Amino acid sequence: MRILLAGPRGFCAGVNVAIESLRQAIRRYGTPIYVYHEIVHNRWVVERFRHEGVVFVNDLNDVPQGAHLLYSAHGVSPDVRRRAAERGLCTIDATCPLVTQLHAVASRYARDGYTIVLVGHRGHDEVVGVMGEAPHAIVLVESLDDVDRLDPPNPERLVYLTQTTLSLDEAKRILDRLRERFPKIVGPKRHEVCYATQNRQEAVKQLVAQADAALVVGSQNSSNTQRLAELCRAGGVETQLVDGPNDVDTTRLAGCQTVLVTAGASAPEDIVQDCVRLLVERFNARVEHHDTRDEEVHFLLPKELRD
Ligand code: SF4
Repeated sequence: MRILLAGPRGFCAGVNVAIESLRQAIRRYGTPIYVYHEIVHNRWVVERFRHEGVVFVNDLNDVPQGAHLLYSAHGVSPDVRRRAAERGLCTIDATCPLVTQLHAVASRYARDGYTIVLVGHRGHDEVVGVMGEAPHAIVLVESLDDVDRLDPPNPERLVYLTQTTLSLDEAKRILDRLRERFPKIVGPKRHEVCYATQNRQEAVKQLVAQADAALVVGSQNSSNTQRLAELCRAGGVETQLVDGPNDVDTTRLAGCQTVLVTAGASAPEDIVQDCVRLLVERFNARVEHHDTRDEEVHFLLPKELRD
């Protein structure tokens, strides 16, 4: 068996800085320390921090007054910030800077009287946070049908924004339809989905044709991981989305010649390597590294942790 180990894979700059922020916050303030939602959408990362004394909450009422609270990489709405301030919480903002930028752009367009068409997945933490910037001005679009149903008050003042972790192909289909229906719609000047999402999807696209099976390492609630798995399935290969080696169904890999291995942006590399080791030991697999692009993106720690 041949393993095509795709690169880039795994941690992106936003996940790196969110995890480092939590580590530093533990060092400075000790535990228990609180995080609003999962720091990143990965079971291992969350469980490891939980063992260190981190408490993940979905409700600010579960955080004692005056405690330290981190906002996760996916960001929060202004309403959450306001309520945290009212409770006297000491907050540390570990939101990915690319998500923060999305909030700022949404809020600016709303102030300028635009209707914002947000292409994303309902209920995802990032989408919930961004929609909270201007609930009256943002319409969520998840599909082509949603685009067809849009009836904005002023089609001349319309802007689209996208969740950072969408499928590139699906986003393109939706944006094409939006531009077709609303030729005056404007959009972001820079990338429509984030660099890490693009790079991981492009690596999979380049490699999938050589594979007859794929392992996508990451958690079920990770949007970008799900998109990688969809891409592998669309490439016609037998695909397993696994949290770690214990989830790998090796019977489904028996007889496979070439297995593509990739990982979502919140999946730790040691877990990816555990999965690779399993295939090496079970199938005497040979590992080939295929790095399709260098990533040199780094973000600063949140200002609350910069000395
Ligand atoms: S996937 Fe992109 S937007 Fe999301 S945390 Fe990583 S760098 Fe930030």
